Amino acid sequence: MAKKLCIKTYGCQMNVYDSGRMADLLAPLGYATTDEAAEADLVILNTCHIREKAGEKVYSDVGRLRNLRAERMAAGGAPLTIAVAGCTAQAEGEEIMRRAPAVDLVVGPQAYHRLPELIARAHRSKGEALDTEFPAESKFDHLPQQSRVEGTAAFLTIQEGCDKFCTFCVVPYTRGAETSRPVAAVLAEAAHLARLGAQEITLLGQNVNAYHGEAPEGGAPWSLGRLAHALAEVPGIARIRYTTSHPRDMDDELIAAHGTLPALMPFLHLPVQSGADRILEAMNRRHTADDYRRLVERLRQARPDLALSSDFIVGFPGESEKEFQATLDLAAEIGFAQAYSFKYSPRPGTPASMMADSLSEDVKSERLARLQAVIADGQRRFNDACVGRTMPVLFDRPGRHEGQLIGRSPYMQAVHAEVPAALSGRILDVTIESAHPNSLGGRLAADPAEAAA
Ligand code: SAM
Ligand code: SF4
Repeated sequence: MAKKLCIKTYGCQMNVYDSGRMADLLAPLGYATTDEAAEADLVILNTCHIREKAGEKVYSDVGRLRNLRAERMAAGGAPLTIAVAGCTAQAEGEEIMRRAPAVDLVVGPQAYHRLPELIARAHRSKGEALDTEFPAESKFDHLPQQSRVEGTAAFLTIQEGCDKFCTFCVVPYTRGAETSRPVAAVLAEAAHLARLGAQEITLLGQNVNAYHGEAPEGGAPWSLGRLAHALAEVPGIARIRYTTSHPRDMDDELIAAHGTLPALMPFLHLPVQSGADRILEAMNRRHTADDYRRLVERLRQARPDLALSSDFIVGFPGESEKEFQATLDLAAEIGFAQAYSFKYSPRPGTPASMMADSLSEDVKSERLARLQAVIADGQRRFNDACVGRTMPVLFDRPGRHEGQLIGRSPYMQAVHAEVPAALSGRILDVTIESAHPNSLGGRLAADPAEAAA
């Protein structure tokens, strides 16, 4: 009987991609995937370390799995192997082994191609199965091809790690130095994903627009702008997105591509973190609020309908009310189509964690609520402005009501419309009739029979 593998994924899209690759890697060993830990032989917790809450989650999860294992063993059931992967594994590997002895193996994000060996080692003898090295060999050279694409969209990691060292962030320590995959490897994986049915590809990297991949035929490394042009030529790839970008790495070629490359979707996640220059400097972001404004202006000149998204941190050490107000002002002025906002969370080992965390939880919560109201307002305005427009929607899943499908607009909104199920997987023009906080509703611009032609 096949063994069962359950992967619980936390955090960013890069972890979602990594979880898929771990499943592909373990499939030849006889592991079929399941969503239920209760029926698994192996559970992998693919963890996130970005904020304290995320980092602590692993210990409560391991506690539950330990109980599950004890109950199962008492009932004479099959053993359960517990593995911890991802950024918390990288940051706290030894501590996890000490604090949570129920864990059988720990593997960092750069070493998961060694999982089969680690699992074998864990089954032979406990306590040795810790691998949080940054190996000289690239895991990508040791992973099998992806085996399936769900729906019509796929992630493709092209860059990993970060050299920016923002003072609040653990990523440079958990994911290591910035590296890019060679252009040829990226194009080959994109072609493979297209053959599996992907029409929309999201290029991933902790700092994706710092991409500088080895050129296919030697010469200077390729930038993300150049790579996007080549990806648009891959048969079957109709839409390209990328995330997450740093404002300082938006070069001329990439900005221009937003104007000249129709496959590059008009949606950009461009974290700004704060609207106050003193805080941006203390964060080591190496740009000012005005630099960000100018950059947005240039992007909107290249692509006037560009939808912007961002990340914000409120309550960074020493943030005054006036400085927070500057963040609110920037958020209102730019008018984000969506954005994520977080309370500052001190992370061990980061420079900001040595600064006095001067703001109370109450102040952080109150600021977060005010910022989220401004963001929600921007999002509502953006969605409202879509009503009456006709836009191409990539439909790929059933809606809540009979006869309905849900798809994605170019701007990343979920769009629902009456569409025959047979047209799932197609890009169809939709006239938007209603806007909701997190989605749009519309009708096919053409008769379904015509649309199907
Ligand atoms: N590389 C991206 C960038 O340049 O912004 C994002 C990396 S991080 C995975 C995603 C977001 O988490 C960050 O943009 C930041 O807003 C937030 N974040 C990172 N560290 C944080 C911390 N210590 N406390 C609160 N939020 C944090
Ligand atoms: Fe972290 Fe992003 Fe800054 Fe890199 S650029 S240190 S990933 S916030």
